[in-house]
Amino acid sequence: MHNPQLTKEGKLKHLLSIEGLPKSILNQILDTAESFVGVAEREVKKVPLMRGKTVCNIFFENSTRTRTTFEIAAKRLSADVINLNVNTSSQSKGETILDTINNLTAMHADMFVIRHAQSGAAHLIAKHVAPHVHVVNAGDGRHSHPTQGLLDVFTIRHYKPDMHNLRVAIVGDVLHSRVARSEIHALTTLGVPEVRVIAPKTLLPEHVEKLGVHVYHDMCEGLRDVDVVMMLRLQSERMTGAMLPSSQEFFKTYGLTQEKLDLAKPDAIVMHPGPMNRGVEIDSAVADGNQSVILPQVTYGIAVRMAVMSILAGNSE
Ligand code: ASP
Repeated sequence: MHNPQLTKEGKLKHLLSIEGLPKSILNQILDTAESFVGVAEREVKKVPLMRGKTVCNIFFENSTRTRTTFEIAAKRLSADVINLNVNTSSQSKGETILDTINNLTAMHADMFVIRHAQSGAAHLIAKHVAPHVHVVNAGDGRHSHPTQGLLDVFTIRHYKPDMHNLRVAIVGDVLHSRVARSEIHALTTLGVPEVRVIAPKTLLPEHVEKLGVHVYHDMCEGLRDVDVVMMLRLQSERMTGAMLPSSQEFFKTYGLTQEKLDLAKPDAIVMHPGPMNRGVEIDSAVADGNQSVILPQVTYGIAVRMAVMSILAGNSE
């Protein structure tokens, strides 16, 4: 079946999910991002690759990091950027998503960056837009958050360049996490040999091992000798019913403390996509400690989003 993210020639037209993308495209994005890291250090932090293009950032769900870094990335590419605050917009007056998109297309938008609480929202929009318009999924429900997955593997590759020789642990609320799904697809596609998930049974999707991961319920066992520890936020807003005894109990068993981190390799890095719940999934001392690369993740997110947008803009049919 044709992948809706790709042109007939196999080039990236939309970025909707990492699942189904070939390793060559993931590497193209990571290598392009590498070339953008230095832009932030210039006096004029801009390149002209998207001059004259209009990017619409449409966030139907709150976000700080993702929305801001997409905006900075588009501006560094010299695009014009529109941010749509959907809470105060026509959606609240009953307009459908597709009508909103049609109106923005009539204003000659070239790219839509979409965050939505429903899985599949970005796919729906991508199916609907005119052939010259590109769509980037900035997080849809529990399904996918491809640019987060890409910035995470970019960060890992930066600190641990030999991806074929790594053990990575993803810890916490995998069930509700679009980030975990995107990370797992990115890591396995790039050839990371061992990806572990560590969580209680209630916070793991059914048949998670089919994604190619090793499952651990005991954090001390799961962290042993890993190179990378990726913590996830406990997504209380997506939980229905009692999935956990309490957040203090969760911290005791699955919260990352220095003592537990010492079971990983001595040079292991600690990551978190944000927003962090200090004292719930991660101890402050670890979040701010010298193994943490949580803030560099944010910085690299700009270069990765610049790479994605410039590649899409260059692949117009
Ligand atoms: N910021 C990430 C997301 O939008 C992670 C999180 O919210 O926990 O999915």
